Amino acid sequence: MNHYKNRTCLICGKSYHACYSCEKIHSFQPWRTITDTRACYKIFLILDGFQKGHISPALAQEQLKICGLSHLDDYVPQIRNTIQHILEKDETDYDK
Ligand SMILES: [Zn+2]
Repeated sequence: MNHYKNRTCLICGKSYHACYSCEKIHSFQPWRTITDTRACYKIFLILDGFQKGHISPALAQEQLKICGLSHLDDYVPQIRNTIQHILEKDETDYDK
């Protein structure tokens, strides 16, 4: 078995190993191809849903707080900025 680190987590930027079969079989733990941990994948799903308009700013805030953001400083700058952007906004700021 070769556990070289061939992936970089989209959320925290850490290198990790994803086996070839993880990448092939997308129905089985597809998060392994995007992030290193389930915790990071949860963040990814929230941000992805938010950016696509599937999740309201208020819900995104709520879900991010549930995830706990103690590792926020470890996240890649772009992700951190997006999270801070969501957390700082009031619902009314999004009304057009
Ligand atoms: Zn990660």
